Amino acid sequence: MHSGFACLRNASRQAGRPPYGGNMTDASTDIQHHNVVIIGGGNAGLSVAGRLGRYGVPDVAVIEPRENHLYQPMFSHVAGGTAPAAKATRPQASVIPKGVSWIQARVASIDPDAKTVTLTSGRSIGYGQLIVCPGIQKNWNAVPGLAEAMESPVGISNYEFEYAEKAWSVLRAVRSGTVVFTQPAGPATCAGASQKPMYLACDFWRETGVLADIRVVLVVPTPTLFGMPLIDAELERKVAEYGIEVHYDRELVEVDAAQKSIVIAGDDARTELPGAQSRLDGDGTITRETLAYDVLHAVPPQSAPDWLAESALPVAGDAGGFVEVDSLTLRHPRYPDVWALGDAAATTNSKSGGALRQQTKTLAKNLAAAVEGKPLPQVYNGYSVCPFVVSRQTVVFAEFDDRYRPKPTIPFWKGLAKERRATFIADRYVLPWVYWNLILKGLA
Ligand SMILES: Cc1cc2nc3c(=O)[nH]c(=O)nc-3n(C[C@H](O)[C@H](O)[C@H](O)COP(=O)(O)OP(=O)(O)OC[C@H]3O[C@@H](n4cnc5c(N)ncnc54)[C@H](O)[C@@H]3O)c2cc1C
Repeated sequence: MHSGFACLRNASRQAGRPPYGGNMTDASTDIQHHNVVIIGGGNAGLSVAGRLGRYGVPDVAVIEPRENHLYQPMFSHVAGGTAPAAKATRPQASVIPKGVSWIQARVASIDPDAKTVTLTSGRSIGYGQLIVCPGIQKNWNAVPGLAEAMESPVGISNYEFEYAEKAWSVLRAVRSGTVVFTQPAGPATCAGASQKPMYLACDFWRETGVLADIRVVLVVPTPTLFGMPLIDAELERKVAEYGIEVHYDRELVEVDAAQKSIVIAGDDARTELPGAQSRLDGDGTITRETLAYDVLHAVPPQSAPDWLAESALPVAGDAGGFVEVDSLTLRHPRYPDVWALGDAAATTNSKSGGALRQQTKTLAKNLAAAVEGKPLPQVYNGYSVCPFVVSRQTVVFAEFDDRYRPKPTIPFWKGLAKERRATFIADRYVLPWVYWNLILKGLA
């Protein structure tokens, strides 16, 4: 085994450092070392740190710049008016698992040959094992005019905490006019979450008697609302119930904030495209359409963080930029001391927090075994989840594998994929409690 704690212990002896001593500094290079360095203290980073502690792995450090931790699934409830913004955030210091060091800083680059990461301050940190999980990058500037539109009084989104807070005050005030919701093409974190504030707002407008006066438009990049027949049928029923006008196979390509109009486009010749890939790079004829809006709820195109895409870790020649890993073991195939999970990993599953419950267990068990020179004991099975909040009381709970085949938690029972009150309670109240109290501590 050329990697791991054994190696670091030897290196420590050579450098006159104690084995496993946290915050060790190599006097000759002034580089701080940790046995395990985790980039990103979000859902993935903290959960895996908590699990590593439980599995007896010492000296774990998390590099995370944010003062406040964000529970992103709650953003949809905040934007749709079923939760206050305070439910989505807690001070980072209060959620770092016990025994884990927090380095409040931002990573600028990774050198997997030298086994160091460099912070934006210029400081370097050495590692025995590196876990890469800085999440996904939201590219507000990728659509001309979109960033500007979001700063206008009627530009809102559940994909950014500040815009989600603003969203409900805008949506609740609508009495008539056109409200457009857009879902991006390409990789996205919990892509279906783009639709959730729409269903919540429609239910509110129906309750307050104004829904019939509002033209609600949904733009999706896919030929169906989700991609699983069972879930599509439930969502189509809700779309019909609320009278939502859906533009399938289209994506947002331009926004004119001053005119309050958007351009959506798609290539109808490319109906064979699976998933949510962009339909604009084919050789067919691009159809463009301009729509006027009174309120625009937009979700931006997303990608791996730029600095990560420029590192040696992504799949060679792949423009996506996500960290190459064995989708089963979550270990990097070229750098065995590097691991990745969550939204920044090039795993085959749909990116979600639900996927992480299994990913963190897999990665932590495998890393703990690897450093002891044992075979990797755990595989990740591609499970993912998207709880579609379809009213202010009900959820359609989509559970699926990396090929969008049903993967229900309760085996052989597809009942959770039907609109239910119980799954709303789980999504709004139970899962958040589990997140703050168990998941972030590596206990679930
Ligand atoms: C609106 C919305 C709704 C969602 N709804 C659901 C849902 O209902 N169910 C579900 O399962 N999932 C949902 N998700 C997806 C879920 O939130 C993500 O899959 C999950 O948070 C991914 O975890 P992560 O740790 O990979 O990334 P994140 O949780 O985003 O954490 C990444 C962390 O890395 C830090 N970071 C970034 N850059 C650097 C750097 N250079 N150096 C150091 N640290 C850095 C960030 O500050 C952040 O704290 C939703 C996501 C969104 C946006």
